[in-house]
Amino acid sequence: MKAYDFAILGGGAAGLSLALAFARSPLKDRSILIVEKDAKDSNDRTWCFWTDELSPYEAIARHVWPRLRFRSPGLDRTWDLAPFRYVLLRGLDFYNFARAELRKQPVTFVRAAGEVEDGEEHARVLVDGGEFRAAWAFDSRIRPSDVVPRPPYNYLKQHFLGWEVETANPVFDPQVVTLFDLRTPQRGGITFFYVLPFSPRRALVEYTLFSPELLPGEEYQAALGGHLAEIGAGAYRILEAERGVIPMSDHPLPRRLGRRVLAIGTRGGRVKPSTGYAFARIQRDSARIVDSLIRLDHPFGFPPDPLRFRLHDSILLELLGSEPDLGRPVFEAIFARNPVQRVLKFLDNRSAPLEDLAVMSSYAPWPFLRAIGRRFFGKAQG
Ligand SMILES: Cc1cc2nc3c(=O)[nH]c(=O)nc-3n(C[C@H](O)[C@H](O)[C@H](O)COP(=O)(O)OP(=O)(O)OC[C@H]3O[C@@H](n4cnc5c(N)ncnc54)[C@H](O)[C@@H]3O)c2cc1C
Repeated sequence: MKAYDFAILGGGAAGLSLALAFARSPLKDRSILIVEKDAKDSNDRTWCFWTDELSPYEAIARHVWPRLRFRSPGLDRTWDLAPFRYVLLRGLDFYNFARAELRKQPVTFVRAAGEVEDGEEHARVLVDGGEFRAAWAFDSRIRPSDVVPRPPYNYLKQHFLGWEVETANPVFDPQVVTLFDLRTPQRGGITFFYVLPFSPRRALVEYTLFSPELLPGEEYQAALGGHLAEIGAGAYRILEAERGVIPMSDHPLPRRLGRRVLAIGTRGGRVKPSTGYAFARIQRDSARIVDSLIRLDHPFGFPPDPLRFRLHDSILLELLGSEPDLGRPVFEAIFARNPVQRVLKFLDNRSAPLEDLAVMSSYAPWPFLRAIGRRFFGKAQG
């Protein structure tokens, strides 16, 4: 049985980010096994995140926006993001970049569906026709059985269809990303267009909802077509399409899956429940895991997410789930009454308590108090 220092199950965002973090650390000589069931040879998603630091992925960023726009019936505002920038990576560029970097290291890739078994001294990784051993295993596989809905937790979905389009008319500003364009009917949850322009005639435009149920496929298409007509895009060609469903839930996802196994990525609760963003959190998590291994010789030595951020997520999810019509006015108030940098820090669990208070008090307190009542003292109080 071949033995490794680290085994990583799943070579997606979390698995490859962790392997890259090992490769860039004093642990770079440790042997790594990466078990991934798919070829990962297509652009299965794009990742966006905001950052005030140079990311290790500068070289493969497809586009970086210095300005951000928010649009709703009552507010149309564009801000300079500095010191932040909004970055887009294509999934395929990330997979290719990561694998090329990791091939220079003692990393073995196995293309197979894997299972992991915990043990006292090591974890066992089982793949069809093979078995490996690792001192530590990191598991990013998530199955429906990991999240069986139960009260009092909230379960929304961020679901969207994105089209990368080339338009006849120059209707986009490649300096400005539109994070929310809420000037569209709200359909049982916050509903908006998210516009990522690459040039005046080319952009990724996504129709996105935060709600419990998906729409029939043609409704996303109709909404995108209607939006392009409304902004005067003229004739357009669809170059690529991206569909996605991201879980938005405060359902607890344990990090430690055994004596030798740590959950990472979505499986390890790295998707921020109230926003669906995970990529930047995955990078920070990878750094914490490496740091723990260096300091303590095990990967579990970091604190859980601060309680106040978990509370914010639960309250916001409860509000968006139970009073979906309030999503738009609440977001409008948050963006109208706070500097955009404060909002971005808040949405990324990096704000100070007073900044949280400022953001949370942007709107009347009653919906938040009702959400707290329902979430923490029983649904009947709603
Ligand atoms: C379409 C889409 C767009 C998104 N956009 C953003 C964004 O813009 N910004 C952001 O911050 N977040 C975004 N997210 C959320 C989050 O960043 C991603 O879901 C991210 O890929 C999560 O990383 P992960 O490693 O947990 O999961 P994945 O990247 O999905 O990796 C898990 C891997 O495990 C593999 N696997 C599963 N079972 C097995 C098995 N038995 N054996 C071996 N391998 C297995 C899968 O094939 C997969 O490659 C997006 C999500 C989706 C779905």
